[in-house]
Amino acid sequence: MPELPEMQAVAERLDAALRGGHLTRVDALHFTALKTVVPPESLFALPIDGVGRRGKYLVFGFEGGHRMLVHCSQGGRLDLEAPPKTTKPRGSLVRFFFTRAPAGPADGDPSADAAEVALLLREYGTERKAGWWVLAPGDDGPMERLGPEATSEEFEQFLLTADDRRRIHTLLRDQRTVAGIGRGYADDALWTAELSPYATLASLNPERRRALVDAIRAVLAGALEGERTRTGALGEAKLGQRFLVHGHYGEPCPRCGETLRHVSYESHEVVYCAHCQTGGKVLADRRMSRLLK
Ligand SMILES: [Zn+2]
Repeated sequence: MPELPEMQAVAERLDAALRGGHLTRVDALHFTALKTVVPPESLFALPIDGVGRRGKYLVFGFEGGHRMLVHCSQGGRLDLEAPPKTTKPRGSLVRFFFTRAPAGPADGDPSADAAEVALLLREYGTERKAGWWVLAPGDDGPMERLGPEATSEEFEQFLLTADDRRRIHTLLRDQRTVAGIGRGYADDALWTAELSPYATLASLNPERRRALVDAIRAVLAGALEGERTRTGALGEAKLGQRFLVHGHYGEPCPRCGETLRHVSYESHEVVYCAHCQTGGKVLADRRMSRLLK
C-alpha cells in the first residue's frame, strides 16, 4: 500500500540518514526476496550517493552508478533500526546493515545517535511480493517498464490529450501508464476531481481533464506534506491514515456528508461518494450481486 507520498518521504529520511555512508552487510531472511543475480557484496565498498524514489521503488544510489532497489508491494513495511536488531519478526524478508557517513548526522536524520543502522523489509500477509534488486550501472531492472511520474509534465500531457478508453481508476493504478499511484490515491484523486471511478479518460472534456490533473497533484502533495512529519521508516501496520476517502467506506463523505460507498473486487475495493461523483447513481457491486444470487 505505500504509494508515491509514503515512498518519497521515506526516501528523503533515508537519504538524510545514509548519504555518504556504506552498506556493510545484508541478511537475506527469505529466499524469494532478492530478484536479481548480482551479489550485494559488490556494493559494500561503494559510498552511498543518495537515496531516492522512482514510482513506488526506493532507489539506493552508489558511487559508480550501481543501484539497489526496494519495493514494498501491497503489504511491505520498512523498519529503521538504530542500532540494528537481530530479531526475525514475522514476515521478515531482508535486513540491510549500514554505517553512516563519518561527517555526522544531517538535518532531519531519524537515527542521529547511532553509528550503525539497519533497514528491515518485512511483509504482512502471505503474498511475498515485496523484494529487492541489485542493479549494475545502466541497468534499470524493473524500473524500465515504468511510465512517467505522476506529477510529471509528460503524464499531465497524457491526461489532457490521450484517448485512453480504460476506466481512469484502472489507468491510474497501471504502473506502465503512470508510476507511483495505487488504489488509495486513485480513490482520493477521483473523489477530489468529483469524477466517477467508472469514467474513462476519453469521455472527459478539457475542463474535467484539467480538474483531474489538479486533483492528482493536490492529493499527492497533501499526502507528501503529511508523510514528511512521520519519523522512522514505514513500520506501521496501517499507513493510510491520511487518505481522504480510501478506506473510509461507510463513513460520511468529507465534502457532502453522504455515506461513502464502495465496489469490491478480488484484490481491492473502490470507494466513492455517489452524490459527489456519480450523480447519485449507485455503482453495481458485481461481487456482492454474485453472493446474493
Ligand atoms: Zn460527497
